[in-house]
Parts: sequence; C-alpha cells; structure tokens
Amino acid sequence: MKKLPDKTVERLSQYRRTLLIALGSGKHHIFSHELAAMLHITSVQVRRDIMLIGYSGTLRQGYDVKELIEIIGKIIDSKDGQKVAVIGIGNLGRAIIGYFSGKRTKLSIVAGFDVNPDKIDRVYAGVWCYNLDRLAEIIQKENISIAVLTVPAADATQIADQLILAGIKGILNFTPRPLNVPSNVYLEEYDMITSLEKLAYFVKKV
Ligand code: NAD
Repeated sequence: MKKLPDKTVERLSQYRRTLLIALGSGKHHIFSHELAAMLHITSVQVRRDIMLIGYSGTLRQGYDVKELIEIIGKIIDSKDGQKVAVIGIGNLGRAIIGYFSGKRTKLSIVAGFDVNPDKIDRVYAGVWCYNLDRLAEIIQKENISIAVLTVPAADATQIADQLILAGIKGILNFTPRPLNVPSNVYLEEYDMITSLEKLAYFVKKV
C-alpha cells in the first residue's frame, strides 16, 4: 500500500484509541457520525479515511469495532513491532516513559539515555537508563528505530546527528530547537508552547 498522508495516519491513531475505549465500554458496532462526534471532526472525514484503508461498514450497523481496530493496527503498526529510545531522562523523559509503559504492544520504549551519573544505570518504569556514550552501541544492538528527544534545547542538534549516524529512522523532538534531518529520517516536532499560544489566540477576547 502507498504511504498515507501524515494527517490521515494521525487520525487513524485517534480512531483506534477511541474505538478501544468504545470496545471497553461494551460497544461492538459504531457509526461514522458517532466516531466523528467523539473526535470533533466530520463524518465525511471519518468515512473517507476508513475507505482509504479499504474498509467499509454496513448501513444498518456501521463499523464492526473489533475489525476496524485490527485493520487500523495492520496499517499503522509494523508486524514485528518497533523499539523506541528516550534521550534525556529528566522531567519530560520520565513522564513519557511512565505514561507509555504497557500501552502499546507493537511499540515499546526499550532504552533511556542520559549524561547525568545519578540517572545512568537506573531503571525508570521498567526502562534502563544508559550512559549517552553507549548510544550507537545500544541502538544497533537492540535494533531501535525511533528516538524521543527530551534533552535541553542546546544539545538537541548534536544528539539528533548522533541518532541519525546510529541508524535511527524516526525522531520525535520535544525540544524547542527545530531540527534538520535527511529525507530518509522522519521527524515529528511537538511544541507545547505553540499549541498553547494558538489556543490563547482563539480564546482571547477581541
Ligand atoms: P530536564 O532538565 O528535567 O531534563 C533534561 C534531561 O536531559 C536531564 O536528565 C539531563 O541530565 C539530560 N541531558 C542533558 N544533556 C544531555 C545530553 N547531551 N544527552 C542526554 N541527556 C542529556 O528538562 P525537561 O523539563 O525534561 O525538558 C526536556 C526538554 O523538553 C527541554 O528541551 C524542554 O524545553 C523540552 N520540553 C518540551 C516540552 C514540549 O511540550 N515540547 C514540554 C516540556 C519540556
């Protein structure tokens, strides 16, 4: 299958999370308009996305929740799972490890890295924190393909370069420092301040 647009992949991930909650509360079928209402988007958008992955519901019952969860999983997960490392085991790095722990079967955080001797060789929510100087060795040994960057902004560029050299294919950058990566590396930047400022702009009184 051709690569899907990244906004579609984002929505598929949101559909799956919403469907899992629906399934947990005993719902086995769901209509596109119900899914749309839960995510504050249009039902046309939901139908378009789900058609794009080759699935359709029935007029009478809508989508089969379990089937749709499985199909989304086949599209967005990789068959053998993917391993993730967190670089910078500070406040944010630890929060991410704690939050993520046990949530996804196909995506697992398997290593943390830091430069602070108080953090190295300790376990955080089941994840071992290595010395940064073992970055390339552990990434290659563990076959880690994704890195989450939660180091101070001043170190971000240098660490990203090291990650790319070590063979990382995807970086989720939480630092406020924008990064440049080669075209074979996928970059996702998450900036909480931008999100908050955007919100504040729409909320402010004129
Ligand atoms: P923190 O100071 O608590 O943690 C930073 C950690 O990185 C520390 O454990 C430190 O020892 C480690 N570190 C320092 N240099 C390193 C290096 N070269 N290699 C590996 N580890 C190194 O900071 P924090 O609050 O966890 O924030 C971390 C980053 O995330 C900062 O860049 C911050 O601006 C950013 N942040 C982003 C958001 C967001 O929404 N995007 C929110 C909060 C923080």
